[in-house]
Amino acid sequence: MTRIIAQVVWLAIMLVQKIVYQWNITNMVFYHQKLIQIHAFGCNLCSILCPINNDIDRNEIKEAYACFSLDNSERKSSSSGGIASIFYAHFITKKNGSCYGCSYDENLQLKFSRSDNLKEIKKYKTSKYSQSYIGKIFKDVEKDLKNNLFTLFIGTPCQIAGLKKYLRKDYKNLLTIDLICHGVPSQKYLDEYIHGLKLKEKPDNITFRGLNDFQFSVYSKENLILSESSDTNLFFKAFLNGLFYRENCYSCKYANTLRVRRHYNRRFLGIRTRNSIY
Ligand SMILES: Cc1cc2nc3c(=O)[nH]c(=O)nc-3n(C[C@H](O)[C@H](O)[C@H](O)COP(=O)(O)OP(=O)(O)OC[C@H]3O[C@@H](n4cnc5c(N)ncnc54)[C@H](O)[C@@H]3O)c2cc1C
Ligand code: SF4
Repeated sequence: MTRIIAQVVWLAIMLVQKIVYQWNITNMVFYHQKLIQIHAFGCNLCSILCPINNDIDRNEIKEAYACFSLDNSERKSSSSGGIASIFYAHFITKKNGSCYGCSYDENLQLKFSRSDNLKEIKKYKTSKYSQSYIGKIFKDVEKDLKNNLFTLFIGTPCQIAGLKKYLRKDYKNLLTIDLICHGVPSQKYLDEYIHGLKLKEKPDNITFRGLNDFQFSVYSKENLILSESSDTNLFFKAFLNGLFYRENCYSCKYANTLRVRRHYNRRFLGIRTRNSIY
């Protein structure tokens, strides 16, 4: 009962925050690029390169493939078919390359990182329904590319567009894969929601999957300490109903059938019922 009351209070606070956010755009709760810092050098490069200020390259979809990992455990521990993990493993074992993805750290902060270690890449698995922090990771990508490493970067379409603009040229040794995405809530909303749950143990991992597919699952030292279905969990319900995304997600120019890169990754929900070969 206490948890339900805490969740309802949290949802009310979140809605009020969103209204306040609309009124006062300077009181940001989301990660925003600070164009002003670069302006100090007078080059105006960030304004010139910003994908929002510029047209983005798009690719019309010519072919579509539905695929999934044949390894059951690999598939079950991913969000959909486990294809992202197959690409990561291929880049590390077959191409001796580097991989980029995001994961929650021990304080549940969603951040991008680099890895060239097969054991590490499992942390990138599954969709995380909050905004991922890019930080200075594009610099590392550029460094790998200039060192002629095969490099794989998986992220949301706006992140891929940002990376392409940052690099300013095509690299043959770079593969980017964008996810189908309809919006992300801020890290702050997730922090406040978790805080409001008043969990007895310190949570150090979270997934949005479980036995019943969409499941809000919180872990402490690898033990599951909270598991709620997307039908009852308020954070999940708010996410699925699009209540609290980053403001620009509501008019996203990437949520479109013309994709920013040639490869993109999505779920084929219900395909089994429509096509007997699956
Ligand atoms: C916010 C969000 C909304 C989505 N909505 C849809 C949808 O409406 N329809 C649909 O078909 N598919 C959607 N997807 C994509 C889908 O859930 C799967 O991520 C995709 O099919 C890949 O599945 P997989 O099993 O191959 O890989 P997974 O094991 O799920 O690999 C996940 C990959 O996604 C990256 N990733 C996860 N979360 C984020 C994030 N917050 N920001 C940047 N990168 C991230 C990881 O770094 C990793 O590279 C969404 C994904 C996200 C992150
Ligand atoms: S909806 Fe658009 S702007 Fe928002 S995270 Fe997804 S790709 Fe980026």
